[in-house]
This record gives sequence, C-alpha cells and structure tokens, in this order.
Amino acid sequence: MFDTHIHTKISSDSKMEIEDAIKCAKSRNISMIITEHMDLKFPKEGLFCFDAAQYFEEYDKYRGEDLLLGVEIGMKKDCIQESKKVAKNNPFDYIIGSVHLVNNLDIYYEEYYKGKNKREAYEKYFMSMLESIKTYDFIDSMGHIDYISRYAKYEDKEIYYEEYSDIIDEILKVLINTDKCMELNTRRLNDENAVKNIIPIYKRFRELGGQNITIGSDAHNTLSIGSNFNAAKDIAKLCDLKIVYFKERKKEYEKDQ
Ligand SMILES: [Zn+2]
Ligand SMILES: [Zn+2]
Repeated sequence: MFDTHIHTKISSDSKMEIEDAIKCAKSRNISMIITEHMDLKFPKEGLFCFDAAQYFEEYDKYRGEDLLLGVEIGMKKDCIQESKKVAKNNPFDYIIGSVHLVNNLDIYYEEYYKGKNKREAYEKYFMSMLESIKTYDFIDSMGHIDYISRYAKYEDKEIYYEEYSDIIDEILKVLINTDKCMELNTRRLNDENAVKNIIPIYKRFRELGGQNITIGSDAHNTLSIGSNFNAAKDIAKLCDLKIVYFKERKKEYEKDQ
C-alpha cells in the first residue's frame, strides 16, 4: 500500500533523509509518494517552496515501483497560475492540493484565530477551501480536510459535519464533479474521537457520488510513515470508498484494500 503524503528534508518543516524514509518504509511494507511542500508566495519568503528541477535531479535515482515523486501544493488565490505552471512543467506522479493559509494567515498560528470564534474561523477555512478547489483544477486529490483540527486554538477542535454541512457538501460536490479524490489524512486517526467525527464527511462524499480516496500519513519523520493505516482502511471500508494512488498522474487502485 502507498503512503501518498510524505515530506523529506526538501520541505521546510522536515529533516527526514530520503534514505532513512526508504529503509523505514521497506520494513513496514509500505510504498511511498514523496510530496514536498510547494506553497508559492508563502508570507515568509522562500519558506515552503523548493526548486523542482533540483528535486527531480536529486531524487530521480530513488524513483521506482515503490517510490513515486509528487508535490503538495498550497492552494490560495494569489498564486493559481504560478502553481499551475509548476504542476504542468514538471513530471510529478501526483499532486495534492491543500489549504494551509486562509487570507494569507497560517492556520498553524494563533494569529489566525485571534478575534474569531470557532464558527467564524472554521467557516472561513472551508470557504477558502471551496474557492481554491474551484480554481485549482489541476490537482489529483484534496489534502487533509481536517487540517484545522490539528492546530485550532479552541478546546474542542473537531469538525462536526452537521455544523458545516452546507459548505462541506459544496466542497465535496466540486471534488466529485471535477473527478478529484479526497485524501484521508491519517495523522489524527490514532484518536477515536477524530475517527468518529471524520467518518460522516467521508460517508457524505460517497453518498454524493464520490468513489476514491487517497491515504497519506503526512509524515515528516520516519516514525509516522504508514501510521494509522489500519484505521484508514477500516474507514474506507465502512464508507464504501476505494483507496487509490497516482502514478504519472494516473489513478491506480490499491490491491490491498
Ligand atoms: Zn499539508
Ligand atoms: Zn503535508
């Protein structure tokens, strides 16, 4: 099975050496798609971007059946064309589209939440996601819909589908109508409560006509590679969704569902 979301030292927030990742993945019987961060026009200049040519040059020798080269593109409205160019001009196997910044504020930090109650902060996040996936039509899968639940500064960080169902439905419909996958990010799946609250979103995706999901740990270190994959497989089964990965931008079905 492929772990389709992995950051090595080419990403600003990872120190992982690719050779360590390979060793570790092999021992866990996991294949990998490397997806380095490409958040163009990141507020702190130069962070979370990389030289694609150099990436392919450096990692080409590792590329093969069990290691594919992708990218995680940060979606925001001021760099659509630039991101599209990066996607088009490089031989990526796979492209994740993710929201990390809302109105140019990093939702990792306190500043984004200042003066907003949870509803406002989450609605703005989903609005930005909706706007992004309408314009970033060149991605393969939308990353971590529950990203905000990792970092929000509220006591209860969970997304309750019913509370945001209107806007979440709109997001899911755009993904389905444009034949995009949804990622099931496994980072939070060690938490029973997170699992319980993510399921209704993926069930709804299926109900509206969605069929395929990608599974990724978002590993930034070797420990996290392939983490919580059993929980992810259970969720896929429960929601009647098929697990896929991408090779040369083409969808492939996992045999081991
Ligand atoms: Zn991300
Ligand atoms: Zn990531």
